[in-house]
Amino acid sequence: MLSHPDKKTIGRFAPSPTGPLHLGSLYTALASFLQARSQHGKWLLRIDDLDTPRNVQGAADNILSTLEAFGLHWDDSVVYQSHCLDAYQFYLDELAEKQLIYPCICSRKTLASIQTTDVYSGVCRNKTTLPDSPYALRVKTDARIIGFDDGLQGLIARNIAEHYGDFILKRKDGIIAYQFAVVIDDHLQQVNEIVRGFDLLMETPKQIYLQQLLGLPCPEYLHVPIIVDQQGYKLSKQTRASAVDLTTPQQVIFDLLGLLKQNPPSELQRVSVNESISWAIAHWNAEPLTQRQQVNA
Ligand code: GLU
Repeated sequence: MLSHPDKKTIGRFAPSPTGPLHLGSLYTALASFLQARSQHGKWLLRIDDLDTPRNVQGAADNILSTLEAFGLHWDDSVVYQSHCLDAYQFYLDELAEKQLIYPCICSRKTLASIQTTDVYSGVCRNKTTLPDSPYALRVKTDARIIGFDDGLQGLIARNIAEHYGDFILKRKDGIIAYQFAVVIDDHLQQVNEIVRGFDLLMETPKQIYLQQLLGLPCPEYLHVPIIVDQQGYKLSKQTRASAVDLTTPQQVIFDLLGLLKQNPPSELQRVSVNESISWAIAHWNAEPLTQRQQVNA
């Protein structure tokens, strides 16, 4: 699958430093790495560390050393979202100038009492004075349909106002929301192909909407299946998925290539990690992941 015949592919992996890498995130990292490298593209690394209450000390360094232990070497320097606050403010100011964002003081509790769905009802949209208590910033949505052709999941289309309503770009606690930061970061890093977990598929229309408001280019997207445990739950830090086993990295890579439906030959279990990775780059084929939402660990 060559997505950018005329320009260099720039992919990325953007983990949140909320704990050590578990199998599920290493699986996504490997898929995005192989997709970029098999096209002779760049593979960048960004640490999504804006949600400070969820950050775990030492997790970012642990993630970097784990990726290296598995032969997933990135290009350029690592970008930390916490170092990009001026850029987020710059683009927030641009949206404010266009009158596309507004302050919202509603708490979850208030919203639960006045609306029956998660779609924000817009109560703060037409207020004219700046609130004197802490407020979030929401983007005004309109009823445009955002459609995109996911490289693995096919055509996705959503009416932004109806499905999401005015969503938050900056939280009441001052933290820039994931949706907004990711759009700015991917633009500034010139990322043109995003490989990430299926669980983020339905976040994508919101991100494309923001790209459209800001006049930014839209990358290609490939949402890979997520790994679920025996009970069908996504492997995640929340479900306490254990950190990947660093004692037998070649076995882990072999197992992950199996989960990525790459049919690795059994000899790969006995070669070095770097040799396994070279084999995987040369043989990478994302096609078997098409239309799959999950795989079993
Ligand atoms: N930081 C996000 C996460 O760990 C991923 C962001 C993205 O790939 O867009 O879930």
